[in-house]
Amino acid sequence: MAFDVAVVGAGPGGYVCAIRAAQLGLSVAIVESRATLGGTCLNVGCIPSKALLHASHAYLKAGGHFAEMGVLAESVRFDLDRMMEYKRGQVAGLTDGVAFLMTKHGIERIQGRARLEESGRLTLAAQDGAESVLEARHIVLAPGSEPATLPGVEVDERRVVTSTGALELKEVPKRLAVIGGGVIGLELGSVWSRLGSQVSVIEYLDEIVPGTDLEIAKTFRRTLSRQGLKFHLKCAVQGVENSVEGSTLAVQYAARDGGEVRTLEADIVLVSTGRRPATQDLARAEAGLRLDDAGRIEVNAHCQTSVPGVYAIGDAIAGPMLAHKAEDEGIAVAETLAGQAGHVNLDLIPSVIYTDPEVATLGRTEEQLMEDGRAYRVGKFPFAANARARSRGATAGMVKLLADADTDRILGVHVIGPEAGELIHEYCVAMEFGAAAEDVARTCHAHPTLSEAMREAALAVGDGPIHA
Ligand code: FAD
Repeated sequence: MAFDVAVVGAGPGGYVCAIRAAQLGLSVAIVESRATLGGTCLNVGCIPSKALLHASHAYLKAGGHFAEMGVLAESVRFDLDRMMEYKRGQVAGLTDGVAFLMTKHGIERIQGRARLEESGRLTLAAQDGAESVLEARHIVLAPGSEPATLPGVEVDERRVVTSTGALELKEVPKRLAVIGGGVIGLELGSVWSRLGSQVSVIEYLDEIVPGTDLEIAKTFRRTLSRQGLKFHLKCAVQGVENSVEGSTLAVQYAARDGGEVRTLEADIVLVSTGRRPATQDLARAEAGLRLDDAGRIEVNAHCQTSVPGVYAIGDAIAGPMLAHKAEDEGIAVAETLAGQAGHVNLDLIPSVIYTDPEVATLGRTEEQLMEDGRAYRVGKFPFAANARARSRGATAGMVKLLADADTDRILGVHVIGPEAGELIHEYCVAMEFGAAAEDVARTCHAHPTLSEAMREAALAVGDGPIHA
């Protein structure tokens, strides 16, 4: 039977696309090589990492901040096996939930590895090697991404691990070396640091979390340093000595611009140097699926690939490698296939780091605006001056708002502080509606809330904040 739509990959891009296409009346099949649905995000990404961040944060707070508030939880301990069990439970609940949604929407679920043969036709390889053909009027490729490795560093997922192995460690490493100071390295570095590891981060660039507003990134690094993480910036890793089982690992690195090679000893090395699109063997060469130099599937503004009737979404195409970006593209493509006008505004994709404090960013950074040559005004407000943050004992960080100097239109917002990942959405809506800073400044916000800090930053762009 030929379907209206065949989706390859059941990550947040693929499964969301399948649901929306089914809701719009199309017949849909979804092919996934994993035994469970939900892709990287639910199985080895967003969800397990957030479960461990939550559990390790609870442990840290129970051992420290609780007592400050007069809550005495004496001799607080943790059981790593149970923490991992908690994480697995969260993952299983959500992957089962996606399976339920497939059934609910009448979507045909097929387990196997798909390969694009030509427009309208996929071959499927089942786990036992059996091959079959799946035909569909439209094909949506959502194969996602996989960890990128580094020359000279051999990953075994036991001692030299990617994020996947770092989510499954059997014991807390005494020393954890993190190669790459991006979001994944810092989130997982935070988890293990909270549980007792000495964490050292080696980053090639001048600052951690590249691409983030520089002032926020610097503040973030200083905060993490106070929590015990050590940073080696502008350093290039040359290799990891992993030859003797049971012995210490030796990470060899040197200043990026040359200099003597130094050694960092570690029990576990986490390689978090980014992710690459999972596009190898995705299509037969004759299918004519064009990839760019980074291996990403080339698409036009409507996510159409070089093959007629074939679309691609998510981590496998250009743009931020984030679950919600993949989801939005999934919805847009389904709407396009149903004859509607699907669209994703790639300029307004929020990005969140789920550490403590959280970091959330949206729109242009100050550095980008300077590069654009655009005149802007800055409004800042510290959480130390926000009543709710103070009552929670979470005063680190600030809200930084960037608005056009002439029109007052909001161009970017960057938050480091408590619940930053939730607070940012007020600005997602405001900016989608083309709001000015004054629009937010004149909007009543409940007291006492962390959201008041978001408003105060908008007031700071104009006549000034009230509480700072
Ligand atoms: P994926 O989720 O990678 O799913 C692709 C699926 O396709 C996979 O299940 C794969 O098995 C399947 N597949 C691939 N090729 C084939 C084939 N040929 N045939 C059949 N099936 C195939 N993003 C956030 O927004 N927030 C976060 O907090 C966050 N945390 C993260 C933490 C970690 C540790 C990691 C690794 C990632 C995190 N991400 C986060 C990124 C997020 O997971 C990805 O951006 C998102 O999963 C991309 O969705 P996708 O649908 O494009 O692909």
